[in-house]
Amino acid sequence: MEIEAENYTVAVMGAGTMGRGIAQVAASAGHPVMLYDIAEKHTQAAIEFIGQRLEISFRKGKITENSKEQVLKNIKPVHSLEELFQSKLIIEAVVEDLKIKQELFCMLESILDSGTILSTNTSSLDLNKIGTNLKCPERFVGMHFFNPVPLMSLVEIIHTTETERSVTEFVSR
Ligand code: NAD
Repeated sequence: MEIEAENYTVAVMGAGTMGRGIAQVAASAGHPVMLYDIAEKHTQAAIEFIGQRLEISFRKGKITENSKEQVLKNIKPVHSLEELFQSKLIIEAVVEDLKIKQELFCMLESILDSGTILSTNTSSLDLNKIGTNLKCPERFVGMHFFNPVPLMSLVEIIHTTETERSVTEFVSR
């Protein structure tokens, strides 16, 4: 799989505890981030929460006002899956339910470019089962973040029996 790495767009699915943390760290790393949740009010609440967390960091002198503004500017709330078509990396952090995750990835696969990497943050579900209906399972990988994400600089990368090596290498960078 050919993967371009420059300033790529990250789409975060789910704006709960983990999704909001993942969106914040991806935006802080300079990526344009699209944040999607089935409940629009969760997306809005997540952006407000991230703003508050950045404000605390700014007041503690850990980040500048400029970088606080830039991180927030990097995060765009999206309200339909179709808007995610430009994303290079999907990080799924929706509720821990096998059927919901399987259905979501199938919908995403029908919308996204074949070069988009699909990843899940599941804690306990079998990745081979989540990806069971995928047409291109070689681009599916696990990215397991820890809570609270902005404070835990650790991500477990889990490959399935079918994940392509270039995909595992890309998300390990
Ligand atoms: P959460 O309940 O805080 O958030 C889940 C979000 O998913 C909610 O905002 C909900 O509206 C949204 N959602 C549900 N169905 C959706 C759909 N079809 N499309 C888009 N959004 C949808 O959950 P969480 O604690 O953030 O966990 C999310 C994932 O991260 C789970 O897979 C969990 O196993 C994993 N995880 C959680 C932790 C943790 O400590 N909470 C740590 C590591 C991994």
